[in-house]
Amino acid sequence: GLERVLRPGRIGRLVLPHRIVMGAMHLGWDHRDDGGRSLAAFYLARVRGGAGLMVTGGAAVDPAGVDVPSSGVLDDTAFRTRLRRVAGEVGAAGGLLALQLFHAGRYARPAAGGPHPVAPSAVPSRISPLTPAALSTDAVARIVEDFARGASHARDLGFSAVEIMGSEGYLIDQFLSPLTNRRDDEWGGDPQRRMRFGVAVVAAVRAAVGPDFPVVMRMTGDDLLPGGTDRDTVTAYARALAAAGADALNVGVGWHESPVPTVQALVPPGHWVPVAAAVKAAVGVLPVLASNRINRLAQAEAVLAATPLDLISMARPFLADPALVERSRHGRPVNVCVACNQACIDRSLVGAAVSCMVNPIVGREADPVPPDGPPPRVDPAVRAGSTPVGGPRTVAVVGAGPAGLRAAHDLALAGHRVTVYEADGEPGGQFRLACRVPGKADYAEAIRFLTAELTRLGGRLHTGRRITDADEDLLRRHDGVIVATGVLPRRIDLPGDGLPHVRDYGSAFADDALGRRVVVIGGGGIAVDLAHLASQHPDRQVTVLLRGGRLGPRMGRSTRWAVLAELRHRGVQVVTGVRDLRIDPDAVRLVDGTAAARSVPADTVVVAAGQLPADALVHTVRRAGVWHRVVGGARDTTGLDAVRAFAEGHDAALAF
Ligand code: SF4
Repeated sequence: GLERVLRPGRIGRLVLPHRIVMGAMHLGWDHRDDGGRSLAAFYLARVRGGAGLMVTGGAAVDPAGVDVPSSGVLDDTAFRTRLRRVAGEVGAAGGLLALQLFHAGRYARPAAGGPHPVAPSAVPSRISPLTPAALSTDAVARIVEDFARGASHARDLGFSAVEIMGSEGYLIDQFLSPLTNRRDDEWGGDPQRRMRFGVAVVAAVRAAVGPDFPVVMRMTGDDLLPGGTDRDTVTAYARALAAAGADALNVGVGWHESPVPTVQALVPPGHWVPVAAAVKAAVGVLPVLASNRINRLAQAEAVLAATPLDLISMARPFLADPALVERSRHGRPVNVCVACNQACIDRSLVGAAVSCMVNPIVGREADPVPPDGPPPRVDPAVRAGSTPVGGPRTVAVVGAGPAGLRAAHDLALAGHRVTVYEADGEPGGQFRLACRVPGKADYAEAIRFLTAELTRLGGRLHTGRRITDADEDLLRRHDGVIVATGVLPRRIDLPGDGLPHVRDYGSAFADDALGRRVVVIGGGGIAVDLAHLASQHPDRQVTVLLRGGRLGPRMGRSTRWAVLAELRHRGVQVVTGVRDLRIDPDAVRLVDGTAAARSVPADTVVVAAGQLPADALVHTVRRAGVWHRVVGGARDTTGLDAVRAFAEGHDAALAF
C-alpha cells in the first residue's frame, strides 16, 4: 500500500495533498521568450498527473549568481512576467508551486561579458571555469537582501512557497564549509560564523514574506568532501535554520564536486535516507524531506514507514512520468526514471534544455499541434485513447526495442490500431542487454511500461515473429509502417577472429558463462557496460582494449567518472592506443599506446566494436509503397544512444 505517501502533508500553513514533493530541476528554458508558455505547460502536465508541491528550477536572486546563462534572474522583468503566468496557471489548475531562490556562488558559469562569480573566499572549484572574487563584508549583507527581495517577488508573483537553495555546494553551502569559507569576519572564522549566512538568509526571507508564507530551506546533510562540514555543525545548523524561521528542511547530499556518486544509477535506491533522517533527529517536529535516488512511490512509502521523515522529494521521476503519482495511486505501471542522467542532468550541466530519455515529450509539452492533421499530441497523464483526426488508421511497427515501442505506444495513445512485430522472443531490443548491467535493472521497467501501456491501449505485440521480404503483402495492408529493427554488432577483421572463444557483445551480455580471463575489444559505452557486468564475478580478470585514449568518450559527464571509478575498483584493466591486434587461442597479442608489444591472457574475447543498422527491411517497405519511417539504430548508428532512439520513435508517431 501507499497509505503513508498518499496521506496529506504540511509545510507551515501549506497543506499538501500527499507526501511527495517534486524537487527543483533546471529545465534550461527559463530564458525562452514565449511569455512563460512552455514553462507553464511543463508544470501543468505534472499538476494534471497528480503532483502536489513542485519546486521550480533555481531562479537567481542576483545576476552574478546564475549557474548557467539559460537560467532566469529575478531582476529581469521579462523573466518575472513569465513566472507570473506560470504561477497563475499552476494555481488556477489547483497546483502548488514553490519558487526556488538560487545563488551559485563559485559554481556560476556566466555568459561572456556577464558578472564575475563571487564567493565567500577566492577558492576555485575544479568544475568551474573561473576563480570567484571574495565578497566584501557589505556585499555579503547585500546578497542576504537579494534573497529577501527574491522571496517577496515569489509571494507577489503568486507562488505558493519559496525554497532557498542552500545545498549541492552553491553559495550558501560555500559559506558553511571550511573548505570554501576562509574568511575571518562576521561571516566566517569558526562554525558559528560560517553558519551565519544561511541562517541570515532564512531570517531575512521570513521577515520579507511574513509569518504565514511557507519557506523551505534546502540544505546539505553530508557534503561528502574530505575536510568539509562536520556532522555536529550540520546538526547545529539545521536547528539554527529552524529557529530562524524555516518551515521545512529539504536535505540534499553531496556537492557537485564531491568525489562520491549521489544520483547515478549505481547508487542504490534509498542509499542517502539516513542522512536526511539524521537531520530529522536534530530538529524534532519540523518537517524534513529526504531526496536523492528515490524513484518509486513504493520506496517513498518504505522510507516513511521506516523513519520519522515527513516528505519525500523526487525530481527526475517527474520527468520520466508526469503522472507518477496518479498512476501509482491507481496501481498502474509507471514510466520509471532509470537514473541515466543522459537527457536531464548531463544537459543541464551545460545549460541546455533538459528532456528525458524515456519520455521525449519533456520540454515539448507546449508544442503546437502540427497543422497538417496528424494526431494531436496527447498528454499521457490524462487522456488516453483519444480519437485521431481523420479516424484511426493501422500501423505496423517492426521491432520492439526502445524506438519501436515508443512509436507504437504513442501511436496507440493517439488512437491508432497498432501491431508490433518482434523477431526475438521478448521485447526490449538493446535494453534487454542493458538491464543486466549493474545499476541498470530499471531499463527493463521502461520496456515493461511501454508494453503494458501499449496493450492497455489496444495495441498488439507479436514476439518471435520476424518480418522479412516475404511479408511485403502484410506490410502493404497497413496505412503505415515504422521500421525499428535496431542494430547488428559490427564485426571486425582481425587475425583469429573466427576462433571459438571470440564472441560478439550481444551473446556475451546474454550469457553468464564467460571465462575467468575476459578481454573486451572496444572502447564505447557497450564495452564499458560489458566490462562492468563481467567484472561482477570476483575471480574474473577483465581487460578492455581500445584504439583510442579514452574509454567511454561519449558517456554522460555526470555518469562516466562514477562508472570508470567502479571499473577501477573492480580491477578492470584498460589498455589504450591499441594496434596490431591478433587473437590467439590463449591470449590477445597487441602493441599498446607506448609501442610495447603485449600479450593479454584470455579465455573469452568479446568484440564490442560498434554497431551497424539492421535495415534489411527498408527496401521491402519502400517497394510496398506504404507510408513509413525508419527510426533508431535501423536508420543510423552514428552517435546512436537510447535518448535518440526514444525521441525518433516519438517523432515518427507524431509524423504519422
Ligand atoms: Fe531519469 Fe534518464 Fe529521464 Fe533523466 S533522462 S529523468 S535520469 S530516465
